[in-house]
Amino acid sequence: MPGFIDCHVHGGYGVDFETGTIEGYEKFAKLVAQEGITKYCQGSVTNSQENNKKYMEAFKTFMSNQKPESAICMGAHLEGPFISPARKGAHELELLRKPNVPDMKELIELSDDNIRVVTYANDLQDGTFTKFLLEKNIIPSMGHTDCTYDEALRDYELGAKHCTHLFNAMSGVDHRAPGLATLVLNKSDFLAEVISDGIHLPKPILELIYKTKTAKQICIITDAMNAKGLPDGEYRLGNLPVIKTGMRVALKESGLLAGAGATFDHNVRTFHETIGMSLVELA
Ligand SMILES: [Zn+2]
Repeated sequence: MPGFIDCHVHGGYGVDFETGTIEGYEKFAKLVAQEGITKYCQGSVTNSQENNKKYMEAFKTFMSNQKPESAICMGAHLEGPFISPARKGAHELELLRKPNVPDMKELIELSDDNIRVVTYANDLQDGTFTKFLLEKNIIPSMGHTDCTYDEALRDYELGAKHCTHLFNAMSGVDHRAPGLATLVLNKSDFLAEVISDGIHLPKPILELIYKTKTAKQICIITDAMNAKGLPDGEYRLGNLPVIKTGMRVALKESGLLAGAGATFDHNVRTFHETIGMSLVELA
């Protein structure tokens, strides 16, 4: 197998990127290699602009001095705050903001151009934000959105062809009200992030995704949070208390899934066992 690439992860091994230190980022980069990961994007969760600015400044320093014996961080994946209140998942409602260029510009500058992917609710902007990301060579990733098919199609036609954890935090395939999921399945050049931990997507849905997208247009992700690789128990996702049980991580209060606790090799194995494809194709 070639090295795995996780373009959507929020932490692990006790490290929370959002509140982490440079030492924490280095610890993660070193330990995550045991999952077979050689490259990854460091995620963020919804936070205030002030906290995101602090995060990006620490991140910039880390990026300029990565350790050769560790997995390589390719840049940041900003997931939030530019997402929809209607599909916020475990993100904090009060901190959500509409996708907007001035906030984004500020974060790009503070990160020293190290933002690679941005998850955003495409229905809460008019295409301007999508175009801005593309101009900046950042991958626009539609997700955490309640958009209709046509709204998603507009941004797809502008060049947005990446989808954040397909089926999670968006409408499903409704034959009377098609949305983002239907567009992603319909378009052969749309790359779908898939959390194949056996928890976020049931087997028939993984099969459906594989049949329509084929292996080439699927990227397995972990979406893991800081408790990945740690024993079961209570942890925090941002300000929210969560419970980790096996590979499952859920909000303590509501029981809603809150990020994930599975390692990348587990997700690869689960995908393989579910689909029964050849190892060559899987690779
Ligand atoms: Zn995430």
